[in-house]
Amino acid sequence: MKQNQYLHSRLKYIIWIFLFFLLCGAGILCTPAAAQADQPIVIVIDPGHGGENLGAEFDGYTEKNMTLIVAKAMKEELEKYEGVVVYLTHETDQDMTIKDRAVFAGERNADFLFCLHFNASAEHNLFGAEVWVPASGEYYAKAYSFAQIQMDEFSDIGLYSRGIKTRLNDKDENYYGILRYCTSEGVPAALIEHCHMDQDKDKKFYQLGEEQLVAFGRMDATAAAKYFRLRSDILGVDYSEYPVPETELPDGLVRPDKTEPELCRIEVTQINEDTGEVTIRMEAEDADSYILYYRYSIDGGETYILPEEWPRPEAWNESAPDCSFTIKVPFDEKIELLASASNGFDKWAESNLIEIDPIPDPERLKEELYEEQEEAQEQEEAQEQEEAQEQEEVQEQEEVQEHYEESQYLEIQADEEELVDDGNYADKNLLQVTMIIVVLIICIIFISFFMARAIFLLVRGNKKQ
Ligand SMILES: [Zn+2]
Repeated sequence: MKQNQYLHSRLKYIIWIFLFFLLCGAGILCTPAAAQADQPIVIVIDPGHGGENLGAEFDGYTEKNMTLIVAKAMKEELEKYEGVVVYLTHETDQDMTIKDRAVFAGERNADFLFCLHFNASAEHNLFGAEVWVPASGEYYAKAYSFAQIQMDEFSDIGLYSRGIKTRLNDKDENYYGILRYCTSEGVPAALIEHCHMDQDKDKKFYQLGEEQLVAFGRMDATAAAKYFRLRSDILGVDYSEYPVPETELPDGLVRPDKTEPELCRIEVTQINEDTGEVTIRMEAEDADSYILYYRYSIDGGETYILPEEWPRPEAWNESAPDCSFTIKVPFDEKIELLASASNGFDKWAESNLIEIDPIPDPERLKEELYEEQEEAQEQEEAQEQEEAQEQEEVQEQEEVQEHYEESQYLEIQADEEELVDDGNYADKNLLQVTMIIVVLIICIIFISFFMARAIFLLVRGNKKQ
């Protein structure tokens, strides 16, 4: 009995010691390394791609060059903190297998490997930053805690968050080699896709010059420093009390969401016939994930606009239940409105289709009205002209008639005058004849007188002799 009591108390003692070590072990696993001891934190930075492996290429930019600049800047910044040793998997542009990168980190007993990348999508339409994390156990928990800090840094500069995600291959292993091999090497790791190299919305984050890539590197270093609760006298920052988000150890694999959003519905709330603006209210919901983008089509889904950000009033992984937006549709065309929403894993769900009758173009209506008015005016003018012409013609006819009448009158008058003239002529002739006769008679009288006188004189002369 006494021995039993003794054994019982010993057993209790052993259980307490066991529990103590168990709790310590769990604490070591789930808290950042800085909290443990004076050992320096070992950080390995892996610039994605290199050598023959260019990574994404777009618009004259090559991913391997960008990641190397960011990685070097991250290392330089992290080395300003105390109690940290930083390595790059490769310092120059060179080929290196993914496995070798993980082995490199494993050999240095790295506390974390940060794998740096830039993104590009097949259709060059996606945008935003994302962090891929291993899908199981402490690797998931640590990477997820770090990624939340990194995501906050991205959000602070206005980069849209595509989320913190896992991805598995057919064998239920981590899809990304660097996460798979690092897990094998016992190194926590995260793959950071800073932004998309091939979409306008993200270009402003890297296209203004190398300084922006350096800024990305400093930002990554800050996220790592916060996660490991580092302090830096050089930078004058102390993150030793930083509230690193806690992540529960998952049961089994954290699987990505493979189903599209369950709800995607649209309704037209307003149509402005003057401007052709149509306001749409869209609802979207995904029970396993969050809504990431929305896009719409006005031709029944044949072509879509580039995706837009779905509103997130609270946090990157909590999407609003609905979203209202106004689009401008072409006038005089039948619109077949269709929208779709994607979740964080780029699974798209299509909405109901709404047909909108053609909205008449106000400009066209105005032009048509103007043309009608002009036509009416032209017709009026033409009518006026016609009337004027008619009037003119009537006047002309009247004039002609008048002329005719006048000429007729003149003719009659002339005839009359002619008749009068003829009478006058006869009178004249008579007068002339009379006058000639009178002159002749006078002449005869004179001649007779002179002849008689001459005869008389002659006769008297003869008598005297
Ligand atoms: Zn890449």
